[in-house]
Amino acid sequence: MPSILDSDIKYLPGVGPKRAELLTSELNIKTFRDLLLFFPFRYIDRTKIYSVSEVEPGMSYIQLRGKITKITQLGDKGRSRRLTATFTDATGSLELIFFQGVKWIKEWLKPHNEYIIFGKPTVFNQVLNMVHPEIEAATEENPIYVGNMIGVYPSTERLRNSGFGNKQIGRVIATLLKQCEGSLNETMPLYLVQQKKMFSFHEAVNNIHFPKDLRALSSALYRLKFEELFYLQLSLLKQKSYRERVNNGIFMPKVGDSFNDCYKKLPFELTNAQKRVVKEIRSDIVSGRQMNRLLQGDVGSGKTMVAILTALLAKDNGYQSCVMAPTEVLAGQHFRGAQKLLGNIGVKVALLTGSTKKKERKVISEGLLNGEIDILFGTHALIEESVQFLNLGFAVIDEQHRFGVDQRAKLWSKGEKMPHILVMTATPIPRTLAMTLYGDLDVSVIDELPPGRKPVKTIHSNDTQRERIYSFMREKIKSGRQIFIVYPLIKESETMDYKNLQQGYMHIIEEFKAPEYVTAVVHGQQKNEDKAHDMNLFVTGNANILVSTSVIEVGVDVPNASVMMIESAERFGLSQLHQLRGRVGRGSDESWCILMTGHKLSKESRHRIELMCSTNDGFELAEADLRMRGPGDMEGTMQSGLPVDLRLSNLAKDSQILEEARRVAADILQEDPQLENQKNVQLKISLSLLKREQRDYSQIS
Ligand code: ADP
Ligand code: MG
Repeated sequence: MPSILDSDIKYLPGVGPKRAELLTSELNIKTFRDLLLFFPFRYIDRTKIYSVSEVEPGMSYIQLRGKITKITQLGDKGRSRRLTATFTDATGSLELIFFQGVKWIKEWLKPHNEYIIFGKPTVFNQVLNMVHPEIEAATEENPIYVGNMIGVYPSTERLRNSGFGNKQIGRVIATLLKQCEGSLNETMPLYLVQQKKMFSFHEAVNNIHFPKDLRALSSALYRLKFEELFYLQLSLLKQKSYRERVNNGIFMPKVGDSFNDCYKKLPFELTNAQKRVVKEIRSDIVSGRQMNRLLQGDVGSGKTMVAILTALLAKDNGYQSCVMAPTEVLAGQHFRGAQKLLGNIGVKVALLTGSTKKKERKVISEGLLNGEIDILFGTHALIEESVQFLNLGFAVIDEQHRFGVDQRAKLWSKGEKMPHILVMTATPIPRTLAMTLYGDLDVSVIDELPPGRKPVKTIHSNDTQRERIYSFMREKIKSGRQIFIVYPLIKESETMDYKNLQQGYMHIIEEFKAPEYVTAVVHGQQKNEDKAHDMNLFVTGNANILVSTSVIEVGVDVPNASVMMIESAERFGLSQLHQLRGRVGRGSDESWCILMTGHKLSKESRHRIELMCSTNDGFELAEADLRMRGPGDMEGTMQSGLPVDLRLSNLAKDSQILEEARRVAADILQEDPQLENQKNVQLKISLSLLKREQRDYSQIS
């Protein structure tokens, strides 16, 4: 049934074709519904009317009620032309000043009429005044701006220049609300609205645009945020339960020789967390359902080990596996690690990347098709169409956030049956974000580092301490350790950053003179062979110091390096600092991370640096990062990873509402998995509306 809300925006009185075009091109508003759900991003409190005697310069925007007693025009033309009007109430007067629209205002303002003005008071020539206040006749009918919290809507330069500013948007929304008065049907099941004592949809949209007062505003926000998060969770959980019911997973009941041989020969014991995750995976692959699991674990927590053990279980049941990494360096590292571990127990591994030679490719291709190769490591090259398996049963995606949804979907379709999927990430994703980004996956966490690792000691320092830090480094080098020195690399200031790095490098080789010390340098503007040469010097222990930008590959593993100094640390995000810090502390030695900053730090930067010094817990840092910067900025978890854009909710600030919404959604699905009960009919309707907005998300699970 078509709803009035689906009407083209140009049919709304006060809009028309020209403004409609603007609304569409500037704000993507096409229908009544789009406009209805176009919410203010902040509010100005106009519930209070001040008197002139209370006004002080430096106050923020305030509202006054009074009369215009005198109007004067100064200057004839050009820049000097302006209009001043004396505004008076029972307690005093001030000057209003207009530079623009002088002619029109002069005609419109009537001495001795009562007006409500709104603006920011300033002092000029020792006279209290207000430049270009908003003015409304106090007698005006339907004074939407008086006695309210006023919404401020997102806008654009073009809209404002076309005379379609905040006030005009407010007006068309007021018209819209009137037009739709009787047709704002409830979008949540009634029983939920009652149970949660929420605003109805009608009350909520009215009060989010034109709040009666602060309380009404917060009720409206709660209702609409809850709805937004609830439907998102309902949709994710429904997909999950559908998948669990429909996809029959590959059955892998056997624990055979490959697994047992490898397990026995491990040079270490698995941590309890690793054992627990292996068990969780085991229970998935014997359940008859297809596994879709996210494995989170801090840098160095041993995720790869878990993936390899699972690949061995797959082999014991007659299936092949693949492990996809985001870079060649990482893929190579995985491959060599696995080769060392599995080479002598009869498990065949191979490596396929963009730089694999044609001849080699052919050999791999055959090995995959005749089932000779058990585990294939590689990069994006793995998902090319030409890569065919005999019987792919298990696929691992490392550092998952670097892969797009489409790329993942391709992996899924490599076998006859969907393989079991393990997605691994070392970027700790806060719980609330994970619940939204991966709401349809099961989540495992390795929350424990292998024993013997000492936590990295992190200290904050600056130039005055440089000499002391250098002697500390010399001591460490003397005892055989290696050192990272990292410079920021931010796209916008790349050239400057490279200059800093070069200068830094010159400074370091001056301080740490050859031949006593060997310093390598690695950055993106080098030739590949120079980069490889210097990187190799450091990896093999032949260089004492590595000077580099922050783009050094994610997984570089040099356990002998025990000190990292990060220059201009205030320019890094928390998650990035934490990732960098993960490069040290891989050996059993005590290790150090030194954060160098300037003297003057913003409050936020100082807070970030202090947090880094106080905790090694990647999740705690990620939570803080999300709170401070919002999900859009989070390292590696672009907002675009979200299945839909959230209009209102903020994943960091609204975590309580999110958890509640997820709980409610889960309870409903538990009772009514297909949403067939009469009382849940609204849920189906709203979900299908949501689907229209949703990015193509259905394929990935
Ligand atoms: P992640 O992928 O989680 O960053 P890795 O799997 O690469 O971590 O493991 C990091 C290092 O720790 C590797 O050298 C690995 O061999 C080692 N390792 C893994 N599990 C254990 C364990 N239980 N005890 C000791 N060392 C381990
Ligand atoms: Mg790893």
